[in-house]
Order: sequence, then structure tokens, then C-alpha cells
Amino acid sequence: MKCNLCPRMCNADRFSPGGRAGFCGALGTPRVFRWGAHFGEEPPITGERGSGCIFFSRCTMKCLYCQNSPWSWKGEGEDIGIEKLASIMKSLALDDKVENWNLVSPTPYLPFIREAAHSLAKEGVRLPFVWNSSGYERTETLEEYSELCDWALFDLRYSRESTAVAASAAPGYVKAARETVKWAYAKAPSRLVVRILVLPGHADEAIENLAFLATEISNDVAVSVMSQYTPSYRALETPPFDRKTSEEEYLSVTEAAADFGFENGWIQGFESSDPAAAFLGENMMQGHGTVS
Ligand code: SF4
Repeated sequence: MKCNLCPRMCNADRFSPGGRAGFCGALGTPRVFRWGAHFGEEPPITGERGSGCIFFSRCTMKCLYCQNSPWSWKGEGEDIGIEKLASIMKSLALDDKVENWNLVSPTPYLPFIREAAHSLAKEGVRLPFVWNSSGYERTETLEEYSELCDWALFDLRYSRESTAVAASAAPGYVKAARETVKWAYAKAPSRLVVRILVLPGHADEAIENLAFLATEISNDVAVSVMSQYTPSYRALETPPFDRKTSEEEYLSVTEAAADFGFENGWIQGFESSDPAAAFLGENMMQGHGTVS
């Protein structure tokens, strides 16, 4: 089997012994950086007992501002095999008693995750899955592995191809991510959260993505508007990504969310200020954090 799991469609022969990695660098065994219960995801995903995050090493995107670069770019982590992956999932479910299995950037490892899930299901261990990714997915892959997507936690990061290529080396991102969100909404509209991270110098793209959601899907989509951008890794030498998002930029996005009529979701406060509560519906909440 060759790998065409993500939109890059490398056709890499990575699954056979001695196989060759594709763009993401993943090979023929699951590789994980860390796992554990997290309490900073959006409220329905965190629940009362926390979300069982599993951070997979490698990523199909190469975001120059990535805060997870030690494992997403450089591949730090441990090759664990399917049996260990199953034991991690089991421990999260039975020892930590988390609400769900939160798969952070799982795409290169979907076949292994499914195998681990099947073996656990035979033992009667089953939790909802959260598919937590950049949104750079193929709908064919989403369809094939839809059992791993009880909750969809997808980004809409860019609205312009040129930015997706410059900032994440991700050709076709805009089309792919929008199709991904459409797919998730059609599957389970109440179990979709779209994350809008407001990037410095690119707040207009966040607004364009809100416009896309409102006009081409629905303004009842739960959106999670995020102010937390922090320059790191290669962004430190790449303007405008070398600075924080300004309050003015962030406000322009929260105001647009209100103007488009979004009433479901969450919005982060802008540092100590309180920019959003006045604009958004009663279901909008402030102050969630994220782990990815
Ligand atoms: S998951 Fe990795 S190897 Fe597979 S198509 Fe995407 S980038 Fe290539």
C-alpha cells in the first residue's frame, strides 16, 4: 500500500519494511510525542474529565510558526507500534477516564489508529474520537476513516492559496480545508468545531473564512476564534509572522463573527482585555485555551 492519505498524495511506499517516507516524514509505524488528559480544549470536547490527547509526530503541513516543531517538523517522539498505541488509548479510557480520544494531527497514521481501535472494541473499550487537524485533508480519506471522526475539530487557517503555500507549504489548502469542513458539517453538524486562528497580517483571511462558513455552510457552525498566536520557530525571522496578532486585527475578526451572525462557539479573550463578549451571542464563551 502506498500513502495517499492527505492532499499531498505522495504515493510514498512508506508502509513496507525499509519503506521511504513521503513529505510528512512518517514511516510504517505510529510515532507519538506525548499523550494525556487535557482540559483546555473547547468545552464540549474537554467535558468534565478532560480530553485524551494523543500528539502524533510528523505533520502533513509545514507551518513556519508551528509551536510543535520539535515533533511536527523534526519528528521527535517514539515509534510505538499498534499494540502500544492501543494500550495508551486503553489507559486514557480506563485509568484517566477521559471523555474522548483526541487525535492530534493523526492523518499519516490513520490505518494504525483504526487497527488499535478495532482491537480495543473487541475488549469493549470504546470512546468517541476527536479528529483534530489543520483541515488539510482529503474527503476520500475522511470517508474511509469516518469512524475515527465522532467529533471534528478542524482549522480554517487561510483563505488564499498564496498564504497557504508561503506559511505552511500546503498547496491546495484552501479548497481542501473548506471541503473538509463541509464534509464534517454534513456528517454531524453539532459535532463540528471550526477553529479560526487569527494570524498577524492575515486577519482578513480569517474574516474571509467566516464569510465562507456563513454563506456556503451556515452561521450555526460552532466557531472557535483564537487570539493565541505566538511567533515561534521560523516565524521569528519571517514578517509578518514574527509578531503577535494586534488587538485591532483580532477585534476585526470578532466583530465580523458577530456581523455574520455566528452565535455558537467560543472566543478567546485578547490577553487581559475583553473584546468579544459584547459582540457575540449568549452561547459564545471566552477564555478557552488549546493544547495544539
Ligand atoms: S500522509 Fe505523509 S506520506 Fe502520506 S500523502 Fe500525506 S504527506 Fe505524503
